Amino acid sequence: MKKHFLFTLFALSTLALAQVDVPPTPVPVAEPLGSYSQGTLLNGEAMPESGEGFVQLYRDTNRYYATRSIIQMIIDTAKEMNLKYPESDRMQLEEMSGPNGGDLDRHSSHENGLDVDIQYYKLDRVEHNPQTAGTLYATPLVIRNKVSPNFDLERNWEFVKSLHRHGKVHRIFMDQKLKNALCSYSRLRKDFLPNTEVLRSIRHVENHKDHLHVRLLCPLNARRCIPQEDPPKGSGCP
Ligand SMILES: [Zn+2]
Repeated sequence: MKKHFLFTLFALSTLALAQVDVPPTPVPVAEPLGSYSQGTLLNGEAMPESGEGFVQLYRDTNRYYATRSIIQMIIDTAKEMNLKYPESDRMQLEEMSGPNGGDLDRHSSHENGLDVDIQYYKLDRVEHNPQTAGTLYATPLVIRNKVSPNFDLERNWEFVKSLHRHGKVHRIFMDQKLKNALCSYSRLRKDFLPNTEVLRSIRHVENHKDHLHVRLLCPLNARRCIPQEDPPKGSGCP
């Protein structure tokens, strides 16, 4: 009888505890507003400083905010690259967006949380020191109009394919010489045809000799995000 009483008391107290439990406040979802070059970011989500296979490079800039879609793509791609190439240098993240998006000096876009700059993988596997404030690490991989032997063809090719597997990639901005090198490499590997759409997304933009720039499509539920037209059809390879 006593046992039963104690049990009832216990059950009642847990019930009481359960009743006072306040449900966790839902984290607001980051939302891209406007276009890539004229937009803002609502409830921007902060990218972790580092994780499996990735590291932020320019921590003093406060430009590591984005939408969930791009953060998740980076986390998943970095993990995949790390599994494939363990004990290599990590993916080195340059800039994303400011906490609320909007104008970002040195960039004509990166305004609505759907753009990220990332260093290319290099054969020298140098991983820069992220604590060095104010230092820019720009190792050009096109020198005197030629692709540098330091450009890691294998890893960069795996990288762009992985980005497409894990994110709704709209465009990847690179220097045309580096894209052409990936075109030839994929043909050599007999990997060209199944990846025509990956190559199609890679477009030439000046000043992308030392990093690539990934841009995602507007997420489906982001009604106030202004999309950009699709890139021209075909691989865009020579
Ligand atoms: Zn960029």
